[in-house]
Parts: sequence; structure tokens; C-alpha cells
Amino acid sequence: MQQTWVPAAEQVREEPQAEVEALRAPAVEEISPMVVANSFEAEALRAEIIAVGRKLWERQYVDGNGGNISVRLGSRYVLCTPTMMSKRDMEPADICLSDLDGSTLAGDRLRTSELLLHLTIYKANPRARAIVHCHPPHATAFAMTGSAPPIGLISEYETSIGPAAVAPYETPGTQAFAETVLPFVEDHNTILLSNHGIVCWADTVTHAEWLVETFETYCKTFLIAQKIGKPLNFIPDSKIQEILALKRRLGFPDARMGR
Ligand SMILES: [Zn+2]
Repeated sequence: MQQTWVPAAEQVREEPQAEVEALRAPAVEEISPMVVANSFEAEALRAEIIAVGRKLWERQYVDGNGGNISVRLGSRYVLCTPTMMSKRDMEPADICLSDLDGSTLAGDRLRTSELLLHLTIYKANPRARAIVHCHPPHATAFAMTGSAPPIGLISEYETSIGPAAVAPYETPGTQAFAETVLPFVEDHNTILLSNHGIVCWADTVTHAEWLVETFETYCKTFLIAQKIGKPLNFIPDSKIQEILALKRRLGFPDARMGR
């Protein structure tokens, strides 16, 4: 966490304003990228990215060098995973510091080529503070069909996610690809990327990964339920309304709530 020095009230009255300003601890935005990269806050966020990267790999949500993770640091910077690296093997020096234009400012490696997707989401929705993109098998199977699983079947899924959006296919790594999610980022925290995978945003990296887990498990469970061969029982609309009221209180997005 960033340390803040607060001057005593008497000092504030006695010292000329210029001297007080000189003693004030700078905000993250005001200090150089190298100082930001070495801050306690950045160190903690790098550790969280690395832990979540291992979870993604262990749960087989990424393979090869696939998937990427990022988190906002203050209002001007983003920490993100590097390109061409397994999410199982990352160390703190591998995590890149970037600005909102995608320029790498610190880190031993090149940033992920999908940072454009992350930056587009951050710029469009200030509530998005962390993003996980990956390729979980059951969710990606839906992405191959260009469809989202039906809703109204599992209460916890409805609370965390609800209707998932489906973004059209574009070539990964391009600005055109990044912009495919723009119509959906306000009302959906989980978006299927057609013929590719999924992207989830939340307030923290850990919570964005929870959305990935919830969505992948939901897709898997729905496919198993279909194999039983019996009609699905949907949650009554009145009970869905109770869930939406809870989501409103929690500040979770849902396309059914309106704005
Ligand atoms: Zn991908």
C-alpha cells in the first residue's frame, strides 16, 4: 500500500503553502513509472497476478502461452502479463507496467499482445479495475458456436454473472478485435469472444478469476444437464427479480436491470 504522510494541523498553519506541498507524499499518478513499478501496491498486485495465473493453468483454463491478466494501478498505469509465457511460470520481473496507450514502461519482457482488449475495456468502463482473458474448454465450446448458455438455471450463477454477451469474431491482437466487446462492457462482466475464449472484468484480479471459474463451471454443468435428457427447470421470474435486487445492492452489472 502506498504510504501517505499527513502533516500536523499546526504545521499546516505555520508553514508556507509551497513548503507543505513539497512535503506532501505524491499520488501514484504524479511519480515516475519506475517508482510506480517498485511501489508496495505494484508488488502486491504482481503477486496477485502470478497467483491467479497459476490457478488458470492448474484448472486448464489456459494452455501454451495462452490467456492474459491485467490490473489497473492508479489512473494512468496498468500491470499485465507478458507475451509468450505460460501463466504457470511467471515471476514478478515478468509482469509488465504499461500506460493506457499500451506502451511498456517497466518489466523484463514484452507485454501481452492482447493488452489492447484490456485497455479498451478499462477506458469504456471505469468500474473494470482488473481483467482476465482465457480459454476454458466448456466456455470456449460455447464461443465456437457463437452462443451463450441459457440463463435462469443456477442461483449463484445468476448472482455473479447472469446473461453473458457474445462478441463477434475478429483477429486477436488487433484494435478491431478489442472493439468487438465495446457494446457489452457496461452491462456484462463476462463476454464470450467468438471462436476464441472469454474475457471477464471485476474490481480485483482475484474476483475476475472467480467469474471465469463460475462461468466455466456453469457451461460444463449445463452441458451435463442436457445429457440427462429431461426438461430443465427454470427459476421463476419473481425469484429472478429477487436476485436482481441483490445484484443492485452489491453493484454487480446485469443486462436485465437497465441503467
Ligand atoms: Zn486468447
